[in-house]
Amino acid sequence: MKLNETSWNTQPDSSHGELETLTKTRQEFGGRTGKPIREVDGIGLLTIDEIGDDHISTSYDTPLRSDAFEKSDEEKMEIIEHHFRQIMLALGLDLTDDSLKGTPGRVAKMYVQEIFSGLNPANQPKIALFENRYKYEEMLVEKNISFHSNCEHHFVPIIGKAHVAYISSGKVIGLSKINRIVRYFAKRPQVQERLTVQIGNYLKEILATEDVAVVIDAVHMCVSSRGIQDQSSSTVTSYFGGVFQNESKREEFFRQIELK
Ligand SMILES: [Zn+2]
Repeated sequence: MKLNETSWNTQPDSSHGELETLTKTRQEFGGRTGKPIREVDGIGLLTIDEIGDDHISTSYDTPLRSDAFEKSDEEKMEIIEHHFRQIMLALGLDLTDDSLKGTPGRVAKMYVQEIFSGLNPANQPKIALFENRYKYEEMLVEKNISFHSNCEHHFVPIIGKAHVAYISSGKVIGLSKINRIVRYFAKRPQVQERLTVQIGNYLKEILATEDVAVVIDAVHMCVSSRGIQDQSSSTVTSYFGGVFQNESKREEFFRQIELK
């Protein structure tokens, strides 16, 4: 099995809204004055290792191989189990130990059926839309949607909350579906910027409106538990489509999610 990295799509999706990224300490959270810490355009200057440690994404689409879904989940689990066993053996672990022997199989099952299940479009949440019968024309905010994702550079958890707003164009969505959409895109190897844009673009598409906002505040285990080992910083990303590009709508959204 050979990974074909050249098939990765590195073209940013032109339909994304405005994306901002700030990194700030928890104490600062509440202000929005942080400077963007990175320019995706500057990516050509960095090595692959530096890209990984700086958590820069190269694409707004999840980089998938063209044959990503040719194998069944069972076949994928078998392959992962085999290779994870090799990783554990390389680390010098004794896989005849009762506590360890089931680990490769558990990890394989967890990857395919749980934490990376959002790679497979077959697992996309079924979305029913309703007529906006109440003629509610203000913004609807669903805040503090908790999610777990995994950093695609280190395969360790990203734990955070998403805040989502939209203004109906005539269709409304069941509230729990917004949670399901966030979790679907979170269950992939991710970078936070891409997760933010994928949720925003998807909501725009299904709700047939540009008026969508997404803010994500998350802690990255690859920053807190290894590398720089910063226990207090979190990363905030945002996506503003349509009227949310106006300062006043944005402020209203921030007030609703108490980011002010
Ligand atoms: Zn990472």
